[in-house]
Amino acid sequence: MAIERTLSIVKPDAVAKNVIGKIVSRFEAAGLKIAAAKLVHLSRAEAEQFYGVHKERPFFKDLVDFMISGPVFVQVLEGEGAIAKNRDLMGATDPKKAAPGTIRADFADSIDANAVHGSDAPETAANEIAFFFPSMNVYSR
Ligand code: GDP
Ligand code: MG
Repeated sequence: MAIERTLSIVKPDAVAKNVIGKIVSRFEAAGLKIAAAKLVHLSRAEAEQFYGVHKERPFFKDLVDFMISGPVFVQVLEGEGAIAKNRDLMGATDPKKAAPGTIRADFADSIDANAVHGSDAPETAANEIAFFFPSMNVYSR
């Protein structure tokens, strides 16, 4: 399988719970490498742009309000099959449906406050990485 990059976000709920490191350690244990990382407090306009694909959905305003409620930890993860691997580690969107041992099963409280974001496909990964990090600040190791 090819080496890929994906965008991961530790959302405000998990940052507030002080479990950034516990979540990052799961990615490292699964063989993913951190190629870029930063803490950022999104503006409303930035959050609306990032989640633009969902702008017609009924939960859009709640999603944006939540994503700007505090800082988020944004990182680029790199490794074999990184996009699917990250999604597997995250678990289902609704933590009540997330498999035991996944990040959302262990750290998320609700479908809104669900601990993590992960890109869902190569094209969205490329767009989401470019949204947060200029290519010169992403490091293969
Ligand atoms: P993800 O890729 O698993 O994060 O899920 P989606 O891309 O479908 O949705 C983006 C985010 O919107 C999710 O992570 C949730 O925080 C939120 N979300 C998705 N579906 C719902 C929903 O039915 N209700 C609410 N309140 N939030 C939702
Ligand atoms: Mg998604």
